[in-house]
Amino acid sequence: MKRRQFLATAGVGAAASTIAAPAIAQSAPEIQWRCASSFPKSLDTIFGAAETVAKMVSEATDGKFQIRVFAGGEIVPGLQVLDAVQNGTVQCGHTVSYYYVGKDATLGFDASMPFGLNARQQMAWMTHGGGLELMREVFKNYNIVQFPAGNTGTQMGGWFRKEIKTVDDLKGLKFRIGGYAGKVISKLGVVPQQIAGGDIYPSLEKGTIDAAEWVGPYDDEKLGFNKVAKYYYYPGWWEGGPQVSLLVNQGEYEKLPKAYKSILDQACAYANTSMLGKYDVQNMDALKRLVGAGTQLKPFPRDVMQACYQAAFDTYEEEAKTNERFKKVYEAWRKFRDEEYLWFRVAEYSFDQFVYSAPPPKKS
Ligand code: CA
Repeated sequence: MKRRQFLATAGVGAAASTIAAPAIAQSAPEIQWRCASSFPKSLDTIFGAAETVAKMVSEATDGKFQIRVFAGGEIVPGLQVLDAVQNGTVQCGHTVSYYYVGKDATLGFDASMPFGLNARQQMAWMTHGGGLELMREVFKNYNIVQFPAGNTGTQMGGWFRKEIKTVDDLKGLKFRIGGYAGKVISKLGVVPQQIAGGDIYPSLEKGTIDAAEWVGPYDDEKLGFNKVAKYYYYPGWWEGGPQVSLLVNQGEYEKLPKAYKSILDQACAYANTSMLGKYDVQNMDALKRLVGAGTQLKPFPRDVMQACYQAAFDTYEEEAKTNERFKKVYEAWRKFRDEEYLWFRVAEYSFDQFVYSAPPPKKS
């Protein structure tokens, strides 16, 4: 290229960039965040949801906004993610809000409450049902802005060494169970244990606990529970559609340019649905493999379910008497749940009930 020609071409580029460059530099700063996950790296679906957020954010900002995800235990233990975000040890964390019901039971509504919402209903409550606004108000007390960023769908009820035939079989049972359900099921004599995902297997293997629930076939197979417990119960009535959330330190969030805030929001919304889709695909074959290898699949007896159902709503009513914050969210959630159930009973339930029980159509 001749020098004159080059200068002319470069000149055009320079003219264009003098207009655009300052605006871009100002609105696209380089930002690096650390994200503490509550989960082990081996669980590619739930741990992977935070990586999905990080990947999308990086790609949408041309690599300017980077989020590095650390597994549970790498920066802080899996059950201390909220604290690490609150005190600024990390800018954000990927966790289940019900791990922190010991601080305030209200946090459970951000994830799942026993006999509450399925994944569709949780998403509806969060996106258009007023749930996000209510929970953001709660999280303000922890200096945190939270985003729905993953869902497992209805979970399994967990792994038991002995059969659960009656409500009495729950008495004295040391059961690893997530979230507010521990408080509910302790009413029926269970001794609930809150243990991070990566630490459950050794406890079950050693016999420190008698039973454990985690998520569903795909994760539970990876964690190896089928090797140490024979009976696999369903459903996980405490987790109809538990949400996993990205917790972001309020101050760090405020520092983001508007465009990055929007990108983060969209990346979390994508991770929310993508994780659910991934579990629904992976669980199909995992369940077949588990049953093929000798796992005995059992539904919780109806009277056990009914006793737990009653215990859940008794616990909510008691909590609401002494916890104003809980009462406010519980009443709104309960109203949404009851009305949503009325609607789901009509089309969704009729569809599900027919297709899952009807004999398949004959080949013509
Ligand atoms: Ca669980």
